[in-house]
Amino acid sequence: MAKLISVIIPVNNEEANIPLIYQAVKDQLIKLGSDFDYEIIFVDDGSTDKSNFAVTRLCDADPKVKLIEFSRNFGKEVATTAGLHEASGDAAIIIDADLQHPASLIPDFVARWTQGFDMVVGVRNNNESESVIKRLGSVAFYKAMKLIGETKLASRTTDYRIIDRKVIDEFKRFTEHNRITRGLLDWLGFKKEYIYFTALTRQHGKPSYSKIKLVKLALSTFVSHSLFPLKFAGYLGIIIVSFSGPLGLFIFIDKYILDDATGFNFSGPAILALINMFFTGIILSSLGLIALYIADIQSEVTNRPMYVVRSRKNLKQQ
Ligand code: UDP
Ligand code: MG
Repeated sequence: MAKLISVIIPVNNEEANIPLIYQAVKDQLIKLGSDFDYEIIFVDDGSTDKSNFAVTRLCDADPKVKLIEFSRNFGKEVATTAGLHEASGDAAIIIDADLQHPASLIPDFVARWTQGFDMVVGVRNNNESESVIKRLGSVAFYKAMKLIGETKLASRTTDYRIIDRKVIDEFKRFTEHNRITRGLLDWLGFKKEYIYFTALTRQHGKPSYSKIKLVKLALSTFVSHSLFPLKFAGYLGIIIVSFSGPLGLFIFIDKYILDDATGFNFSGPAILALINMFFTGIILSSLGLIALYIADIQSEVTNRPMYVVRSRKNLKQQ
């Protein structure tokens, strides 16, 4: 039986790009031959231009084109999530609508997937057209994530990827709202392969990911994939307590038991400052302790799957 490939295209104000990406994707899918069938799912993420009309026209002409229309803009991460939820393929490919992801790689993606990789991920080569600020930002983001994040995010990986059905089914178990689709997909593990590509320049329209949106996205990734910022205060507190405590004890013994025998003659303000520091340390380390509880609550609330099974042998498939 022919394998079904679902292509998911998130769309936010891309009216001019829609016919182009449709044609580009379709050309490649037809190239795959009769072993593969396909569906193309456009997720209209609250476009305010004529994107919806453009997709509807394609739907009327080609029953393999499908449309999920959001009631408003929910963001690309949610749009790709909706696409994955509604895809019925044996594998799904996520691709941008603006033709920055070269559709010509689709046969490569499919070939590696048929070789047995569960997920084949597109990775961007160094892209010359990117602004310096954006590039520096992305380098800093991935460096920081690598240092303090709990999920391994490979740098320069994109949403452009093919995802096997078993990964999609596991992905559907995530319930968190604040999400980065590719972060969650990477969290799942599975057998991965990478394809490198140079992103093309956007065909029409403007990128809707503004710098502020990107910073927000980076922050929410930190919060959902790393507990380090929370624990940092605690570590600081422990450091402060562990030197101001013994020092205070030393001063106490020196002043009241040894009657200033050491000759240090600690002044009143110095002692006051030290006491102050000690209690600041206590407060900070308590904050760190609270952070541990919050972390616990956070992990229960996001309710991620406890484990993910890649395959079962001699056991009934769930
Ligand atoms: N997109 C979306 N919702 C949004 C923003 C973007 O569905 O709120 C889509 C957009 O139409 C495009 C893809 O996500 O297909 C990538 O967006 P963009 O080109 O703006 O981002 P960049 O290329 O800068 O990552
Ligand atoms: Mg783009």
